[in-house]
Amino acid sequence: MIELTAKPVIKTINQEILSFISNLSFAPRLNIIRINNDPASEYYVTNLVKKGEKIGINVDVINMPLDTDEKDVLQLIRRFNDDRNVNAIMIQKPLPGGFNEDILTGAIDPDKDVDGFHPVNMGKLLLEKDGLKPCTPLAVIETLRHYNITTRGKRVVIIGRSNIVGKPLAGLLLYKDLFGDATVTICHSRSEKLSDITKEADILIAATGKAEFVNKDMLKSNSIVIDVGINQIVRNGKTSYVGDVDFNSCSKIAQSITPVPGGIGTVTTAMLLKNVIKAVNIQNKVDIFD
Ligand code: NAD
Repeated sequence: MIELTAKPVIKTINQEILSFISNLSFAPRLNIIRINNDPASEYYVTNLVKKGEKIGINVDVINMPLDTDEKDVLQLIRRFNDDRNVNAIMIQKPLPGGFNEDILTGAIDPDKDVDGFHPVNMGKLLLEKDGLKPCTPLAVIETLRHYNITTRGKRVVIIGRSNIVGKPLAGLLLYKDLFGDATVTICHSRSEKLSDITKEADILIAATGKAEFVNKDMLKSNSIVIDVGINQIVRNGKTSYVGDVDFNSCSKIAQSITPVPGGIGTVTTAMLLKNVIKAVNIQNKVDIFD
């Protein structure tokens, strides 16, 4: 069994970013709006700031009080939309209760929407038009591309139909491309006879949010397994992170698997920074980075 690790994938992504930035006369800027005191979110943004620093992208975290009014957040988004020095805007989750995520996402200039969640960007993705695309689906495609796992004509099954993973990923896998052109099936919590479907997959992608949900009995032998999941678990009193795939069980039958940690999640962070560069490109109407 081959482990499809993130390390070589992000090395290539970082080289691409560095080479692009070396030709710029300014450091690109990502502004993250954060309205929570969630420790996982704190860890994530601190990590992003450090990674950005290393690579030449200014990542600014705007921490807002928990009792902030939605109107104030909208005002801030509009200010960043109008600020030429801000290339990318992201709203860090979770948001406090009462906030309307759709309204906030919809207020971001689509050309600065590095999460790729704006309806305009989702539409562009489905229409195969140039635009900012969600980072996790991009991370899956980038990983497949790096390991030269073509999807053309293959049967790809995704477990999970969320707007941020399953649906946009299905869209990318339908692109007329060597790393698209797949026959895609999306399964979800209402799917019947799930194992019968997953056993047909040449490539199985798990995005259920259920720790170690996929086991070897759900796989076709020699299939490729992409684990999008990140779940915190406590085992024998120790906290650790596992995916949506039972790695030990599946490694007995799969040809290759992405590990957790050190798999799709790590590539996703790199893709977010690459999206900042993509945003700079879009804002400058050049297309040398697609
Ligand atoms: P979500 O909760 O929005 O969606 C989960 C999906 O799984 C739903 O469509 C649901 O129908 C499906 N599902 C749940 N139980 C199922 C079952 N028993 N059988 C079949 N389908 C079932 O989750 P999400 O936001 O899409 O995230 C999915 C996973 O990916 C989570 O583990 C999350 O932590 C992880 N994630 C990782 C990254 C990353 O950067 N790698 C980014 C986002 C999410």
